[in-house]
Amino acid sequence: MESRGDVTSAPDERMDDMAELKTRVAAFVRERVMPCEPVLDEGGPAAAAVLRDLQDQARRAGLWAMPLPVELGGQGIPLLPYSRLAECEGASDHGPAALGSAPLLDVLMLKRHGSARVREQYLKALTAGGLRTCYAMTEPDVPGTDPCMTGTRAVRSADGNWTVTGRKWFTSGAGEADLVTVLARTDGDASDRAGLSLFLVPTDRPGFRVVRELPVLGAGGQWEIDLDHVTVPGDHLLGERGTALAIAGERLQLGRTLRCLRWLGQAQRAFDLMCERANVRTGSRGPLAGRQLVQQHVFESLLAIRTTRPLVHEAVERIAAGLDAHVEVGLAKVAAARMLHHVVDAAVQVHGAAGLGPDTPLPALLRTGRAARILDGPDELHITSVARRVLRGHNA
Ligand SMILES: Cc1cc2nc3c(=O)[nH]c(=O)nc-3n(C[C@H](O)[C@H](O)[C@H](O)COP(=O)(O)OP(=O)(O)OC[C@H]3O[C@@H](n4cnc5c(N)ncnc54)[C@H](O)[C@@H]3O)c2cc1C
Repeated sequence: MESRGDVTSAPDERMDDMAELKTRVAAFVRERVMPCEPVLDEGGPAAAAVLRDLQDQARRAGLWAMPLPVELGGQGIPLLPYSRLAECEGASDHGPAALGSAPLLDVLMLKRHGSARVREQYLKALTAGGLRTCYAMTEPDVPGTDPCMTGTRAVRSADGNWTVTGRKWFTSGAGEADLVTVLARTDGDASDRAGLSLFLVPTDRPGFRVVRELPVLGAGGQWEIDLDHVTVPGDHLLGERGTALAIAGERLQLGRTLRCLRWLGQAQRAFDLMCERANVRTGSRGPLAGRQLVQQHVFESLLAIRTTRPLVHEAVERIAAGLDAHVEVGLAKVAAARMLHHVVDAAVQVHGAAGLGPDTPLPALLRTGRAARILDGPDELHITSVARRVLRGHNA
């Protein structure tokens, strides 16, 4: 990520700036984004209008596209300082979209691996919030944990165009996206890791179809899509032919880590609600906060948050330093998913029936916590991958 334009100021001033920025981001998400969550969760035209309004407010407040490159219209805050903001920004699932940081992964991927035409055509519009993207790897008929089995095919024709055919599902945001990055096999068979490529597919191309929405525990936002001989220009291949897994790996490392930061923000939100409830909910023997078993929920949740946060920031530091971060990202991802699920579950328990009803964000947070253990690679995949690396290191 590019550095910010104000790098000439003294370190102390920059620290003060960041602390002030963090306060402003937290206030924006709490006061502007969170009250709109019920509409935003519904999706459709009303949600799109509210999101556009929030994005305008974020621009006016100087909080737009904080981690995106300066030359594209972002603020260029580097990953390390941004990681402190990402927690506050992600306390609402809608925070990153409202503050314009949601396209970060796509912008970095296209900047590094897009052709000159792709960069020229899409990067500025993406940063400005004028284009929406999604990322389609997982398919209904093969295990998402084994991308080599990808059934989607892309074939190159004599004129240099590619024709993409296949079906994807659980593609977040596909129902409203302008562009979808598609993983497809271009060469070889399921044993060939170097036969997979990534394509940027505009969703207005003939043959692209949204099949259905796939509600996750009742919430929308995930989609099944079909690509029936969708033709894209040759320069919409990302990187070199056959390099999909390397590009996807790079994207997922940062993506998983950003998600962990957001989950920390969401867990903190559930924790705060739990403590508030424990203090005000009062029976004949006093508030719930006086009960030792409620205190245990508070203790275990705080322990989970405080022990996960350093793991996540260790992963951020290694990525920011350009070091191999497989082990750190794997540890952070599993810890953060478990932590979010645990903390939200405790907060629901302390709320009693109210925790499952419509008056708090806890049901939505619980849903995110459950999905966290599957999306971006299920826990088992990370556990196996981290353990194998560590064991290999001990065998050297
Ligand atoms: C809310 C949500 C959003 C998502 N967004 C996207 C998106 O935007 N784009 C996208 O491409 N995908 C997305 N996904 C899909 C997600 O990435 C996949 O569900 C995930 O990678 C697992 O793939 P799968 O569902 O095919 O499970 P499978 O690969 O069939 O695995 C099923 C189960 O088998 C077990 N398992 C698998 N591998 C191992 C192993 N090595 N060792 C032990 N056990 C194992 C685990 O218990 C695992 O949960 C999303 C999913 C959800 C729930």
